[in-house]
Amino acid sequence: MKTDLIPSGFLPLSPIKHPWVKALCENSELLENAIDTYGSPVNIQHLAPFAGNIDAFKRVLDSFGIRNKIYFARKANKCISFPLEAYRLGEGVDTASVRELQQCLDAGIPAAALISTAAVKNRQLLELAIANEVQVVIDNLDECELVQSIAEEQGKAVSVCVRVGGFLFEGKPLHTRFGWPIDKAESFIVRELGSGNHFDRLRYSGLHFHLNGYSVAQRGEAIQQCLNLIDALTAQGIRTESLDMGGGILINYLESEEQWNDFHAALKAAVEGRRPALTYRNDPLGMLLLDGKAYGEPTVYPYFNTLSKAGFLEEILQYKGSWPETVATGLRSRDLELRMEPGRSALDQCGITVAKVAFRREDTSGELLIGLEMNRTQLRSSSADFLLDPIHIPKHGHADSEAPVYGFLVGSYCLEQELILKRRVKFKRFPKVGDLVVFVNTAGYMMHFYESEAHLFALAKNVFYDEVAGEVHEDGLDVLVANC
Ligand SMILES: *Cc1c(COP(=O)(O)O)cnc(C)c1O
Repeated sequence: MKTDLIPSGFLPLSPIKHPWVKALCENSELLENAIDTYGSPVNIQHLAPFAGNIDAFKRVLDSFGIRNKIYFARKANKCISFPLEAYRLGEGVDTASVRELQQCLDAGIPAAALISTAAVKNRQLLELAIANEVQVVIDNLDECELVQSIAEEQGKAVSVCVRVGGFLFEGKPLHTRFGWPIDKAESFIVRELGSGNHFDRLRYSGLHFHLNGYSVAQRGEAIQQCLNLIDALTAQGIRTESLDMGGGILINYLESEEQWNDFHAALKAAVEGRRPALTYRNDPLGMLLLDGKAYGEPTVYPYFNTLSKAGFLEEILQYKGSWPETVATGLRSRDLELRMEPGRSALDQCGITVAKVAFRREDTSGELLIGLEMNRTQLRSSSADFLLDPIHIPKHGHADSEAPVYGFLVGSYCLEQELILKRRVKFKRFPKVGDLVVFVNTAGYMMHFYESEAHLFALAKNVFYDEVAGEVHEDGLDVLVANC
């Protein structure tokens, strides 16, 4: 085994762990029971950090004296428990499909606390939304035609927010495939929406945008340009109730900036052949290798951030740019309701994924492979790798005195590329069959967004940690109703 390359073929990326995660990682009996009961992998989640994240956003918005409402973007996690918690906290839910919406309505979340921003809104979704008077965020003219015709059939008027994009940033419009360009939205709203116009069943209520990426300045500019549009509409007698800034609030996953920077420098050196590989078969994680030189940056989420969650929101509200007033002052002086739709950031520290070691082996190059009862779609986002060290939990009762070993985690899909993580990882000691591996902070996108059932493997079970009882129970309406 290539132990001579270690530890230079491994650099740590230590995850931030919420106290409930630390407590569970020290309770291997509970984790083993959960795996025995629900199978491997199992997603264990907790509502307390969710409430904490929402509360932190709320405090910032309130401290600026801005009217506000938070709509949790439930596409980031499939469990109904989080939308119910958002509603219990007095906030709302952003739904992106007919099933997301139906489930929220069935769970008793009132229509007034729901919006729908779905990228594709079919007749089924719009019929449900309109029948229940759920506000719809409109994106294109075909969607407006469908809303209009369903509203006519149902004899209803529909409150809509208009999605806008294409904000000017550093002299150029920000590219998007969504909504109306900000410079075309005024004439659309004035000429097409409301009584006497083509879409007379659609009642304009507010503006909405959601930006790709994580730039504070882009969000600040977008809001300022929306305020300009709102003023132009006001001058024509059209009132705007709300401005929705979507999601995309950063979270910080890692303890150390130094580790993060060291990893990036070392990955580049490894890919250029100047040090042992850190990734399986020296995967460049999205960098381009040309004539022995690595170009570009790894295409990974910025797992380390000095600015995240409430602090990130605060910076947006304080943004002024070259405008006469800050975003916060602009919103307050117009008495607008600022809405936001946090997905990932609301779920920070809300979940872990636990999997069981099934086998150990070497590949043809002599690398240690640890097979997990899990597949890579169960820990996946658009990032080229999930750059957090997993936690190895030796089976309950096993001594933990041996030296650490290093290897790669592989999963159950029959593909050569089936690595759970592309990075080499560290194990406390040589793993045994039945040991557990815990992936931290997976509730936002990682556990659900890309999960699939290839080979007919069942999807992972979702359970919630009950801190008081010291046990876990399944997510779902029956369980929640029973707990009410
Ligand atoms: C994805 C999405 C969100 C949530 O984004 P996060 O980055 O998870 O906060 C909010 N609103 C819309 C319209 C989205 O598409």
